[in-house]
Amino acid sequence: MVEEAVIIGSGPAGHTAAIYLGRAERNPLMFEGFMAGGIAAGGQLTTTGAIENFPGFASEITGGELMDQMREQSLKNSVRIVTETVSSVDFSKRPFALTLESGESFEAKSVIIATGATAKILSIPGSKEFWQKGISACAVCDGALPIFRNKTIAVVGGGDTAMEEAEYLSKFAKEVVIIHRRDKFRASLVLQERVKNNPKIKVMWNNIPVELKGSKFLESVTLQNTLNGEKTELAVSGFFYAIGHTPNTEFLGGQLNLNEQGFIITEPGSTKTNISGVFAAGDVQSPHHRQAVIAAGSGCLAALECDEYLNEL
Ligand code: FAD
Ligand code: NDP
Repeated sequence: MVEEAVIIGSGPAGHTAAIYLGRAERNPLMFEGFMAGGIAAGGQLTTTGAIENFPGFASEITGGELMDQMREQSLKNSVRIVTETVSSVDFSKRPFALTLESGESFEAKSVIIATGATAKILSIPGSKEFWQKGISACAVCDGALPIFRNKTIAVVGGGDTAMEEAEYLSKFAKEVVIIHRRDKFRASLVLQERVKNNPKIKVMWNNIPVELKGSKFLESVTLQNTLNGEKTELAVSGFFYAIGHTPNTEFLGGQLNLNEQGFIITEPGSTKTNISGVFAAGDVQSPHHRQAVIAAGSGCLAALECDEYLNEL
């Protein structure tokens, strides 16, 4: 049997696409992944606590609960969900071919890729222990939490994300310290200037974090100077990773156009990839702005464009 529409990935982008395609009576099939990219089915939001910026949930909802609701809504809209990871695809023939980790194969007329991206983190002592207990990789998501207000917060990285995270966090924090391994940022000059002119932000050049310490919550970070090896202790209540993201695109085997960091390139204002009938939505095609509501919006657009494509077929 050739599937009309297959969705790979089960975060807000995948489920929104699935709900719309279900309602368009395309009988969509979703591969939700089994710990794909180290993340449970439901995506990145399953790794966090309260979600306070997804519209429609004025009272508190956790990331896990929100994703359970989305999954339930998909099922209600006749989406078939398979808890498996897609290990490879063949977009060179039509219908497209997809192979699962179990070895099983499927054919599909159209595919929506919504496999997300994973924040890079460092494998240093304390990194796992204090995750979401002072450590985060998303200032917009977590920066306003009470544990960070009027406290000293560290941001590690020297790219555009580090500049933006530091700037954003400076609204709430007493002080933001950017930790960078070199003596030069790679961020665009305009963002560097903003950071330089912000009295609440200071920079510790030529340093890398080597340990994160605390009791119940994070209390300090040990830094090592990259020039002389000297170690210093910095008391912080927050530690934000801004050292890049890894998009989950390896399984595509280079068949779609990707940018330098491996994110899928889509046509401007669209979810269309370089292969007609293959669409990409959510963080996997959004290297700059990573928010659940944006992912959901692009999942909706992918479903509408996919439906139009199937009509034309
Ligand atoms: P994801 O949520 O990453 O989901 C992709 C899914 O696809 C994953 O389940 C993955 O396992 C699966 N997958 C990957 N590869 C395959 C494969 N080959 N086969 C099958 N399945 C596969 N955003 C907000 O708006 N508000 C917040 O408060 C917020 N808090 C956050 C807190 C944390 C700790 C993190 C990490 C992110 C947070 N975000 C928040 C960002 C938000 O989670 C992401 O922008 C959003 O989840 C992206 O959705 P997505 O559907 O593109 O991908
Ligand atoms: P980048 O890859 O650009 O920067 C990552 C930073 O983290 C670099 O400074 C790098 O150091 C540092 N780093 C990487 N690995 C480590 C490590 N193991 N230990 C310590 N430091 C490390 O990622 P970004 O997320 O900043 O940006 C990704 C893309 O998104 C870029 O193209 C960027 O321009 C874009 N972007 C644009 C924005 C905008 O236009 N407003 C906003 C945000 C992102 P080093 O410099 O030494 O390599």
